[in-house]
Amino acid sequence: MKLSSWAKVQALQKESVIRWVHRFRKVSVLLIWTSLFTILASPLLLKLLPIFQQTLGQARSPHPSLETSPFSLSPKVDQAIASGSPPAEMPLACGTELNASTSLLSETVLPQLKAYLSTVPAPNIHPRARLAKVPVMMYHDVLPEKEVFFDITPEEFEGDLQRIQQSGLTPVSLDHLVNHLKTGIPLPPKPIVLTFDDGYSGHYEHVYPLLKKYGYPATFAIYTSKVGKKLGRSSLTWAQLEEMAKDPLVTIASHTLTHPDLTLQSAELLDQEIITSKQTLEKALNLPIQHFVYPEGKFDERVEAIVEKAGYTSALIMRNDDGKFAGESDNLLTVERFGFSELDEAIAQAYGGVSVAQLERSAKSSGSYGGEARNP
Ligand SMILES: [Zn+2]
Repeated sequence: MKLSSWAKVQALQKESVIRWVHRFRKVSVLLIWTSLFTILASPLLLKLLPIFQQTLGQARSPHPSLETSPFSLSPKVDQAIASGSPPAEMPLACGTELNASTSLLSETVLPQLKAYLSTVPAPNIHPRARLAKVPVMMYHDVLPEKEVFFDITPEEFEGDLQRIQQSGLTPVSLDHLVNHLKTGIPLPPKPIVLTFDDGYSGHYEHVYPLLKKYGYPATFAIYTSKVGKKLGRSSLTWAQLEEMAKDPLVTIASHTLTHPDLTLQSAELLDQEIITSKQTLEKALNLPIQHFVYPEGKFDERVEAIVEKAGYTSALIMRNDDGKFAGESDNLLTVERFGFSELDEAIAQAYGGVSVAQLERSAKSSGSYGGEARNP
């Protein structure tokens, strides 16, 4: 009897151990699959993150209907895109109420998701982005005593920021602009991009504190041989640049190693100026450098090809004559800018782009909408 009870206890213990082994196996398998899924899906999730950030930002904004889709919706919409301007009776991308979460999903998240997943091949600009008018403003030194015509004092610069604020403009980052140019997803109703060339110490002493004060993002184009050196005029130090680069408001772009006229350089030197400068900044600042700015705006097809080969997602130019809006650029490797003296003109025309949902509604109400007339 005793033996039999002992055997039962042993059997029960064995059963219990087996059960625990099974449970452990199940949990392990689940953990392995979860880890595998996370590893495989993380690139996609990272790619989709900006869409949701943008979408949620718009849902909170007073102008929430900034969604778009990459598809053609009606002949009227196509005509508007081809002509480069929205239909006359079409209200611009603002003023729509968005109350229900279903609206958020069907009118904002899904069109943006579709737009994001069907970007035009780089370095092309999405046709719908050509309807927007996004000024990219170019500044150089900001210092109390002006020395040349393209200098500006800190007081004058703050005056510009106040005009931007009072006119209801929204400064957006260069990444945000590039995403818009690739997908056609509209920006806020009156967007503007701020850029500063050449890495002067005034950018740290005067510009950066003002950007923080107003909460405005900006891009600084750096040529690395100047950093920390007394080269010509004042220069940023590496420590100042590192501090600025860590701030989410700041984007650092490469402006070459030595600021030469790139059209006059040999292939080998072009590689150094364009590719090595990117690597140098990436190593020093420990972040990816995705944007390039041509010194003095000088470039040709050969230069552009190396900028593309280096893996930059955009490159900014400058012209001596009138500035153009980003959507008027030939492509992402020749993004147009305005000089800061053209700020009033830029403010008056800034426009974030067309909401596809609104185009659709406008076409429907005018009777010209022909249903789901999408491109094959
Ligand atoms: Zn420069």
